[in-house]
Amino acid sequence: MTLLSIRDLTVHHGQLRAVDGLGLELERGEVLAIIGANGAGKSTLLRALAGLNLPTSGSVHFAGRDITRLPAHRRVAAGIALVPEGRRLFRSLTVEENLLTGAYRKRPGPWTLARVYELFPWMPGRRTQNAAQLSGGEQQSVAIGRALLSNPDLLLIDELSLGLAPVIVRRVYEVLPGIVGAGTTALLVEQDVAQAMRVADRVHCLLEGRSVLQGRPRDLTAEQVEHAYFGIGPVREGRD
Ligand code: ATP
Repeated sequence: MTLLSIRDLTVHHGQLRAVDGLGLELERGEVLAIIGANGAGKSTLLRALAGLNLPTSGSVHFAGRDITRLPAHRRVAAGIALVPEGRRLFRSLTVEENLLTGAYRKRPGPWTLARVYELFPWMPGRRTQNAAQLSGGEQQSVAIGRALLSNPDLLLIDELSLGLAPVIVRRVYEVLPGIVGAGTTALLVEQDVAQAMRVADRVHCLLEGRSVLQGRPRDLTAEQVEHAYFGIGPVREGRD
């Protein structure tokens, strides 16, 4: 069943067309990764889905409802939560206080503080520590827990791997099956292609705001992905 349907979406930053006529669909229970080089438009797309960048044209339907122009705070109530690039925790608040900011507009659903603590077993023992005392990977986990506490149907995760060592990234991503298993669908923006291919059911590669390649990781060759990522070779033919 389709949860998210994006049609011909264009988002500008001033004169710059950061997302350019993009279309994609996301099924309930899927993990979709958006990959692409720096400046390809990945974060702009995610921010547009969270209601933080307004599209110039096109449409976004979520659970059958047109949310193209819905303000950000109403999207949380509709069931969309963003884990923003750079985590954006309150550094002087504790782990638990940061988590609870996500429960402010809590919807009914499986995610409670106890359930988040089950997902990240290291957290309960550190719940009274300030976020500033956590490592990058731990902060990223708190940002994910905070988003889950609104009980989203769709979790948007922007550049989870940014600034983290590969081994830490892998560990943070280990929670993804538990999240999807609880009924939450995930849309990730990931610059680390190998990581995206490991965790996603399907990937879309963006180039200059357009989706130039999409498919299941096992159906895509490394060469196809590389060409799409850098905009070279056959995937570009006929586009200009
Ligand atoms: P990155 O991995 O570097 O974040 P990205 O694929 O997420 O790249 P975006 O951040 O969406 O790409 O940026 C797409 C284009 O829009 C880039 O050319 C970027 O410079 C530009 N851009 C992004 N945000 C703004 C902004 N607030 N104002 C002006 N231009 C912006």
